[in-house]
Parts: sequence; structure tokens; C-alpha cells
Amino acid sequence: MSGPMGVAILGATGTIGENTLDVIARHPERFRAVALGARRDVGKLLAQCERFRPDYAALAEPQAAADLERALRERGLPTRVLAGPGALEHIAALPEAPAVMAGIVGAAGLASTLAAARAGQRLMIANKESLVMAGPLLLAQARASGAMLLPIDSEHNAIFQCLPPGLAPGCEPPGVRRILLTASGGPFLDWSAEQLAAATPAQACKHPKWVMGRKISVDSATLMNKGLEVIEARILFGLAADRIDVVVHRQSLVHSLVEYVDGSLLAQLGSPDMRTPIAYALGWPERIDSGVQSLDLAQAGSLQFEPPDPVRFPCLPLAREAARVGGLAPAVLNAANEVAVAAFLEGRLNFCGISRVIEAVIDAGPSGTATDLDSVLAADASARERAVREVVRLGRTGATG
Ligand code: MG
Repeated sequence: MSGPMGVAILGATGTIGENTLDVIARHPERFRAVALGARRDVGKLLAQCERFRPDYAALAEPQAAADLERALRERGLPTRVLAGPGALEHIAALPEAPAVMAGIVGAAGLASTLAAARAGQRLMIANKESLVMAGPLLLAQARASGAMLLPIDSEHNAIFQCLPPGLAPGCEPPGVRRILLTASGGPFLDWSAEQLAAATPAQACKHPKWVMGRKISVDSATLMNKGLEVIEARILFGLAADRIDVVVHRQSLVHSLVEYVDGSLLAQLGSPDMRTPIAYALGWPERIDSGVQSLDLAQAGSLQFEPPDPVRFPCLPLAREAARVGGLAPAVLNAANEVAVAAFLEGRLNFCGISRVIEAVIDAGPSGTATDLDSVLAADASARERAVREVVRLGRTGATG
């Protein structure tokens, strides 16, 4: 090997970014953090620059970038600072950082993820929204440039590990009957409809198994996270939505399964720690140390599996339907969900209002094909506007339950 592989991390200050840096720090001879990008967290990015000495640091918010620049110069650090939304796209396509971790949460990560695909990078995708909103575009760009797609979402990484090697992104794997995505069920799995109506943001953000950001924690509580993952799996593995099943598995030790036509089920198990999928993607096709503890199966005791409840968790069937329809439907679903979740976190919408907002926005249309990024962004913008109006309407009627 000729020197360490350069890595760019989009979303360096988030959970995925910090875990990626943790794995990189274990293998200084193999990897080097060449570029770190975030939206606005100056303090954390500065600390990372001091420790990892990247060539580039990018912040999407110009004022934050100016603050970082000043702090770096005061400390005599030579890291080049890039500012504005284009900065993330720039570091996604650097030739000296051919491995890109797309770890920005939400639609904000779309443009930079697409830029990495266009540039033919080794693209480690943790930004599920780019697959959900613009999956066909992302696949087309990856195919055209030869970019490799390595899923980081624990479920899709598990499936990737259980599939035969060498498959092109988005191509149906041979001999597969179906995919089974496991769901922890989130913090409200056993809550009654009445309890769900009164659920608070703090309760929703207390996930039993995984430590995650606030938005994805709420998605986990509504099961929308699993719904988005159905859409994600449909894009990544080229299977129709009716061949992607969801099973609730409280222990979060089986990260997902692939069923083959001969009846074989292959599963990937491990401690719930994002460093496993991150290390797998960084090292692929080799296996490298991730710092993750061994899983003690005897201590785990039993593994349970049960069906998800579509009545208490209507976001899952809403997402399944969007996966089946395809085109712009997943982008509309995702936009409505982001608006509704933000409103819930800010106390302007109750928990059960989240699925109501999404359903109302989907019912209003539009559908259609995702021909280019502009059509996706237009569908996203109009769905957000409708969702904002719907949040106000539901808030005003004081709808509960
Ligand atoms: Mg996941």
C-alpha cells in the first residue's frame, strides 16, 4: 500500500463522524483524515482539527467558517477553511481523499453525497436521505463514474455483508428471496395509543439501544426510520418493496438478514456500535479492528422477533407505500417527515401528529418520476411548504391522539 488512504468526512462533528474518526485513529498507517466538514459546530470541528490535522475543514455556515478560520490561525494550524454549502461538495470530490463518509443527517447532505458519487469516490453512505430522496440519481451517477457504494446504516451494512461480493450497486442479487430488516422498535414499542399521544421529545430521544442524534431518534420512535430503511434497501439492493420485510428485534444484536431461495437465512450479528459498519466500509474488502467489544451470546441469552404494529406506528406503512410507488413519493415522504419531526422537537406538534402531517402531505401529491436533482428539490420544497401548513393546522385544532 502506498501511504494511508485519504478520507473526507461530511458531518465530522456528528455521531457518525466521531465514530469514523475513532476508527481512523486506530489505523494511522492505513487512513488519514484529509478533510472534515460540518454545518456549524465550530468548537468540535476545531478540536478535531487540532487532533487530526486535516488539510481541509469545511463549514456550511459562513459565519461559523470565519470563526473556525480565526481560531485555527490563533493556534498556528495550517488547515485550509472552506465556507458555504459548496464547501462540502468540494471536499466530497477531492482526489486526495478518495474515501468519503457521507454522514450528514437529512436533506442537507444530499448535494455533497451526490458530488462524491459523481466524482467516483469510495462512498460510504450514512446519509439515508440521499438514497431516499434521490436514489435513482445517485445510482446513475455512481454507475457512470464507477463510484463504489458502501452502506453504513447498520441494517444495510449487515445485508451488504450477507450478500455475495462483487455486486453492482442497485442490481438485484442472484438467488435472494427477500431481505429482512430488523427494528429495535424504539423507545415506545410497548406504549399504548394514549401514552403515545402524550409522548415528549425527551422521551422519544431516549433510545434503548443506540446513541443517536435527535432527528433520527424520533424517526426510530415513530418507526419512520425503518420505513426510510425499506426505501434505502430497495435502492441499494434492487429488490421490489414487497420483498423487503421488517421484523422487530428488541435486542438489536441481529442487524438484518438475507433469505435465499433455498431457504437459507444469513444474518449479521454484533454489539450495537456504529464502529463495526464504519470499519467494515473503511477496510473493505479486508476486515480491520474497530474497537468494538465481542458480543457475548450466552450473556445476551435470548433473541426475540415479532411483527411491527402498523396501527400504533403508521409511519412504517406510509413509507412502505412510498417505496412501492417510487419516483418522487419517497422524497415527498421524507420532506414531510423532516418538517413534522422538527415541529415535534420544538413542541409545536404532538407525537401522533407526525404521521398525520406526512399522510396529509402525501395525499395532496404530487407523484412523478425523479428525472433530475431539480425535480427532486422542487418536490422536496413543495412538500415542506404543505407540511408547514399542516403543522399549523393540526396545532391550531389541538389535535391529540
Ligand atoms: Mg439503521
